[in-house]
Amino acid sequence: MNRDTFRNGIEEIYTAHGKAFPAQKVAEGVFERVKDLPDSFMAFAVAELRDYTTLPSNLGRELRRNLWPAYLGKNPQLRAGTEIKGCDLCRSGRAGPGFIYAYNPADSCRVVMFKCVCCTQENVAHWESWDMGKIYEAGLVPGLPQ
Ligand SMILES: [Zn+2]
Repeated sequence: MNRDTFRNGIEEIYTAHGKAFPAQKVAEGVFERVKDLPDSFMAFAVAELRDYTTLPSNLGRELRRNLWPAYLGKNPQLRAGTEIKGCDLCRSGRAGPGFIYAYNPADSCRVVMFKCVCCTQENVAHWESWDMGKIYEAGLVPGLPQ
């Protein structure tokens, strides 16, 4: 999750409950609990938490233990282990659907695995997405060295 998305969400939640933005340490502790979750989850969490009669004293726990499972229930495609179909960029590659291998032609021992732009796997939500343009721009060649 993007830090700004998180901050804005937290601010909205606290404002809705008439509270000031939490102390940096508190906010950081909450962020630690949700930083591996996708940005899209924050909008859901804000909408839910605005409706609570009281703000949970342990917001990180509430987000992780209650709201995240609820969000996954509504968005089953985000579940880790969900079958990924892949797209034209990654489907035929050896890294598997949703992932792309690339290597540096000047140093063919260095093979890197990237997340494809089509990949929605939740456990790699924090990985940067790559497409072929970006791979070539980085001076790499998609696939495995021959
Ligand atoms: Zn793909």
